[in-house]
Amino acid sequence: MRDDPAPDDAQAVIDLGEDDDTVELERLKAAFARQSAALAHAQKIFARASEAARIGVWECTLDGEHLTWTDVVYDLFDLPRGSVLDRAATLALYAPDSRKALDTIRARAIGEARGFTLDAEIVTGLGNRRWIRITATVECEDGVPTRIFGMKQDITEEKALFDRTRYLAAFDDMTGLANRTSFQARLAAVEEEGCGAALLLVDLDGFKAVNDTLGHLAGDACLRRAAARLRTVCDRADLVARIGGDEFGVLLGTDDPTIAEDLAGRIVAALRRPAEGEDHGLPLGASLGASLGASLGASVGVAWHDAAAPATLFARADAALYAAKAAGRNTFRTDASAGHPARRSRVA
Ligand code: GH3
Ligand code: MG
Repeated sequence: MRDDPAPDDAQAVIDLGEDDDTVELERLKAAFARQSAALAHAQKIFARASEAARIGVWECTLDGEHLTWTDVVYDLFDLPRGSVLDRAATLALYAPDSRKALDTIRARAIGEARGFTLDAEIVTGLGNRRWIRITATVECEDGVPTRIFGMKQDITEEKALFDRTRYLAAFDDMTGLANRTSFQARLAAVEEEGCGAALLLVDLDGFKAVNDTLGHLAGDACLRRAAARLRTVCDRADLVARIGGDEFGVLLGTDDPTIAEDLAGRIVAALRRPAEGEDHGLPLGASLGASLGASLGASVGVAWHDAAAPATLFARADAALYAAKAAGRNTFRTDASAGHPARRSRVA
């Protein structure tokens, strides 16, 4: 058993205790200050990174739909930072298709208590069109969804790059027509579908002379004009594509020779038409049109097929095109006239 301390000793213990508390308090204060500083630093870093990446955080209560945004989300929507948010008003800033997609995916995510990611288009109050990537997580209490939160990121540039890349993979940038890759894919699909089709190959006549005489830019303008005319004449075609330098392919979803021949004739006539006056206002239009009117025409090779392989269909149209060239250009020939008998083909 321990003796009670003498009165002086007791005072010493009390003093010692107070000193300890003070030291501990100071230690805690210092630790708190350090943690506050670290937190403030982390918040600053987060805010800067968030602004640089154009990523903001949002949350919405499901009971009452009370919306909270960080500054970047306000910036994305061109709304004053910290202004009072009304969910219906912010939803109105989504493009109709995106709003519909958001409504659907959000309702499903809440119903199934899981997250989602959605790329959506918005038109801000200032009229800026932006694409944002929304990621969301649904939080539950006792199995009941109570809150939905996540991030919103500006992906406008990424989306533009993606769209441009996708466009270039399928279209010819100069004329805006489908490119050779799209043409070959469509041609292959024709065989798989097994239904009637006609292929028309178009190659400009005397095009090299346009480049040689008027220059490459004039040649480009000429190609663009030919493409625009083709597009207009072939408005009912399955596909109109630029498949080479001055070569175009037209696919029809019919093997009716009357329709194909009629179109072939109209294409030749459209591409033969003088361009004079038509390009008025364009830098090279007038000289191009005047020079090209008499010499530029088109030779068209037409092939009909009976579920033929795409390569055969192409080879026959190509042979017919060669025959049209050999016949003096500015005309069209069918594959029968080119020495490849096709059940319903005729000489033009
Ligand atoms: P033909 O009557 O036999 O068809 O001969 P052509 O003078 O039309 O020449 P051809 O079809 O044999 O060759 C097409 C030319 O188109 C060759 C090339 O210099 C030119 N070309 C190819 N791509 C482009 C392009 O993007 N722009 C321009 N300006 N010229 C091109
Ligand atoms: Mg040519």
